[in-house]
Amino acid sequence: MVDRIREIGRDRVPFSVEFYPPRDEDAEARLWRAARSFEPISPAFVSVTYGAGGSTRDRTIRVVGQLAEETTLLPVAHLTAVGHRVGELRALVGAFADRGITNLLALRGDPQGGVHNEWVKHPEGLEYAVELVELIRELGDFRVGVASFPEGHPRAGGLDRDTANLVAKLRAGAEYSITQMFFDVEDYLRLRDRIVAADAEQGAKPIIPGLMPITSVRTVRRQVELSGSQIPAGLLERLTAAAGTGPQENRDEVRKIGIELATRMSERLIAEGAPCLHFCTLNFARATSEVLANLGMAVPT
Ligand SMILES: Cc1cc2nc3c(=O)[nH]c(=O)nc-3n(C[C@H](O)[C@H](O)[C@H](O)COP(=O)(O)OP(=O)(O)OC[C@H]3O[C@@H](n4cnc5c(N)ncnc54)[C@H](O)[C@@H]3O)c2cc1C
Repeated sequence: MVDRIREIGRDRVPFSVEFYPPRDEDAEARLWRAARSFEPISPAFVSVTYGAGGSTRDRTIRVVGQLAEETTLLPVAHLTAVGHRVGELRALVGAFADRGITNLLALRGDPQGGVHNEWVKHPEGLEYAVELVELIRELGDFRVGVASFPEGHPRAGGLDRDTANLVAKLRAGAEYSITQMFFDVEDYLRLRDRIVAADAEQGAKPIIPGLMPITSVRTVRRQVELSGSQIPAGLLERLTAAAGTGPQENRDEVRKIGIELATRMSERLIAEGAPCLHFCTLNFARATSEVLANLGMAVPT
């Protein structure tokens, strides 16, 4: 995966997209429309999320398998440790391998029942993502990525401990990280500086910025709540004013701000040498395609 990023990066800044496993037929159709619309413009990879505790286990395995078998896209499967026995995690890694998936994003996952609940380790499971990186690496020739947090992980207890954790995951064999979504490029740049200062060798590994083009205030508020990241107050004010006070938010106005912001952030990240731009699409291609078009990287769908 990192090789592919570097290869594409010789000509242009690579981009990648994130999907989630669909729950019903309409969502399934939307995912495949999005996948097909990105295919001709060659994302570096396409990642598929995994519902903590295994709630999307079969769907994640099926979707990444189909992406590998039926498209030219390179899938990366997210895998979370929470709620699983080590034996189950081994079997899951084997199930991905059986479908030809060798790129895995190793995550701890949020506490079961909700992000604000207490984290409880499964008695026969793993406590931290670093242990999942180690387990996957023991099981075969996998390319492993991990999560990173420009604002620091909310439970890290400070940026120094957050930095030490990311460095530990990279030292354990993770080849890159993908960041939590953020809205202030300075946070990404500070994260990169922290990792380079802590360990220059690990700091040379790609830190892929996660971007979400905002198309709805309601959706971004929910995503931010789930992820623990912050929307800068000035941005939230602009979005809320654009959304209006009617029963339905004015999505066109919100979208304009969201696409413009994601475009400006991407331009700055490219200028700062980000290795790849990773877009959380929520399985919609249009907003990401518009940002890519603004960057001269795609034709809008
Ligand atoms: C790009 C990306 C993709 C994601 N995809 C998914 C997904 O598909 N499904 C899903 O459910 N969630 C997903 N998440 C959310 C993620 O699972 C949560 O943010 C989770 O709370 C942290 O996961 P982690 O892998 O970073 O955990 P870890 O690296 O284990 O860190 C968890 C916490 O423990 C702390 N910590 C680590 N090691 C130690 C130690 N030795 N001692 C003390 N504290 C320590 C860390 O600082 C951190 O606060 C994703 C997040 C990102 C950024």
